[in-house]
Amino acid sequence: MSNYESPWMTDELRMFRKSVREFLQEEFLPLQVKWREQHRPDAEAWKKAGETGLLLPDVPEGYGGGGGTFAHQAVVTEELAQAGVNFASGVQSIVSHYILTYGSEAQKKKWLPAMGLGELVGAIAMTEPSAGSDLQSIKTTARRDGNDYIISGSKTFITNGWHAGLVCVAAKTDPKAAGFRGISMIVAEVKDLKGYRVGNSLEKIGMHEIDTCELFFDDVRVPAANLLGNAEGAGFTQMMEQLRYERLMIAVGAIATIERALAITIKYAKERKAFGQTLIEFQNARFKLAQAKTEAHIGRVFIDNCIARFIAGQFDPVTAAMAKYWTTECQCRIVDECVQLHGGYGYMSEYPIAQMWLDSRVQRIYAGTNEILEELIGWSL
Ligand SMILES: Cc1cc2nc3c(=O)[nH]c(=O)nc-3n(C[C@H](O)[C@H](O)[C@H](O)COP(=O)(O)OP(=O)(O)OC[C@H]3O[C@@H](n4cnc5c(N)ncnc54)[C@H](O)[C@@H]3O)c2cc1C
Repeated sequence: MSNYESPWMTDELRMFRKSVREFLQEEFLPLQVKWREQHRPDAEAWKKAGETGLLLPDVPEGYGGGGGTFAHQAVVTEELAQAGVNFASGVQSIVSHYILTYGSEAQKKKWLPAMGLGELVGAIAMTEPSAGSDLQSIKTTARRDGNDYIISGSKTFITNGWHAGLVCVAAKTDPKAAGFRGISMIVAEVKDLKGYRVGNSLEKIGMHEIDTCELFFDDVRVPAANLLGNAEGAGFTQMMEQLRYERLMIAVGAIATIERALAITIKYAKERKAFGQTLIEFQNARFKLAQAKTEAHIGRVFIDNCIARFIAGQFDPVTAAMAKYWTTECQCRIVDECVQLHGGYGYMSEYPIAQMWLDSRVQRIYAGTNEILEELIGWSL
């Protein structure tokens, strides 16, 4: 595997990777403890990320993005995972792709350049206290009133919730319509918006560096022109389409995390001694690592194929579900094995593998739980 390189890699991407890596090491890695304690990154971090080209790498330059492809987003995602830096620039990309794909020219020009610079932080608000997997059952409503929508309801577990200036809200514009048909996506510019409130950052078991919040909408007025798409009722389809992007990004992060966990653990197993020999000299440790390395390689090749298909516009929702489901299951299992191979040190917060174990768990839960993804794959059989 040492001589394997992703087929989508180019000289330009190698240079981009180098600059992202240097930036993360110099600027964000030293701040992780501070962010962890305050449960969110510093506001300036977003602007610094924007200046460095970390934000919106796969959005056209004309809209303030980096002008790259999904390969550029994959590089950013991989480097964040490899550095052990938790920073939700991926969510910024997700929101930008909703705007890029469904937004009007005026919406794109208004929001995307500011998002690329990190002056405007994006969040996507689908989940509610009583509706996560079952998105069709959301209760937040957006009632039309003249040239505005009036949004009422609450959202929970929203990434970037504290810093967000732009929230893409899933709401029912037609509460009487059956199932998913009445849902629309509406963009709310939330700074100083009357009736909008952000709860405290939620206490999670991992990823403390990221602000995950409850959002409250109490008769919030948003211009009707902020609807995404030409007509009401397209929100559910838009979410299902865009979840392909989100799920692929999660899968890319999962494989990069597995690769990092293995590199750390192989090094540790070669150094740590027990019973007069290094851990890697025990057949059990060697076989566990051999199995994990094989799976990591299978995963890498699969994900590279997914990336190539995404770039070619041929990436279907079922393969996206397979990618997110399988890689994150592997991630949690392999990282857990790596903790085990570290013995007691694997349970100590100061050891990166312990942090990876805590941060990994949520990968099987968000962007569609793995059970929902198995359902999706199952329906296609
Ligand atoms: C750290 C974090 C960040 C997040 N960020 C965001 C965000 O930015 N924006 C956002 O909108 N949401 C976000 N979420 C929410 C996340 O997407 C939801 O938690 C997830 O979709 C699951 O919904 P739920 O928590 O309501 O669980 P539930 O839907 O209540 O599911 C509970 C359990 O039941 C299972 N289950 C449910 N339905 C079925 C079924 N039909 N068949 C089989 N099993 C089923 C699930 O798999 C799960 O195991 C985030 C969550 C976390 C933890």
